[in-house]
Amino acid sequence: MIRILLVEDEQNIANLIKMNLEMDNYEVVWSADGREAVELFKKERFDLIILDIMLPSISGIEVCEQVRLHDTAIPILMLSARGEPKDRIKGLKTGADDYLSKPFILEELLLRIEKLLQRSIEEVKGELEYYEFGNNHIDFNLYQAKGPKGEFKLTKKEVLLLRLLIERKNKVVSRKEILQAVWGYDVIPSTRTIDNFILMLRKNFEIDPANPVFFKSVRGVGYKFMEES
Ligand code: CA
Repeated sequence: MIRILLVEDEQNIANLIKMNLEMDNYEVVWSADGREAVELFKKERFDLIILDIMLPSISGIEVCEQVRLHDTAIPILMLSARGEPKDRIKGLKTGADDYLSKPFILEELLLRIEKLLQRSIEEVKGELEYYEFGNNHIDFNLYQAKGPKGEFKLTKKEVLLLRLLIERKNKVVSRKEILQAVWGYDVIPSTRTIDNFILMLRKNFEIDPANPVFFKSVRGVGYKFMEES
């Protein structure tokens, strides 16, 4: 089920959007407050955010900034009564992926949401089947790998984690993104679980697991797969 966080303080507009998205089989969580929306975002898993700019407590721009600190990938569609180019530019600069001015045509909103979701699904899917780094090999289809100590089997979660880190090579992947990509909706493990997975990857792929070259920790944020190109 695709989950959308709808941040909009005007109840009529929120109801209209929510109702129509639900008719299209999306699950919608509605928040009328910027600060609350950030809290919801941190606690739950969403696939897309619809974000009004003028909100009580903190503005949509600030919400967008906060979200982007934790997650650079989630699609954000900004909504605003202010259709001025400078607001649009500010929104896009803060990390929104798309922008729609009120009043908008509902059909256009739905189309844009569909497009954004499609784009993010394609980005996650990836084409990676086989990968080599250092003296390591990974076969993503056969769930097999070879490291300094020889060949070994990979679990599905290890494959998902490796794929995510490698596809985002040399970029930080946050713990939250790892949780979403590898564990999805059902179970929310502790961050310790992720750490253990990383330790295991180091044990299998690093020549000196205590001084990793490929699977780096980024303190307070997450992990990074490093490889010189
Ligand atoms: Ca508003």
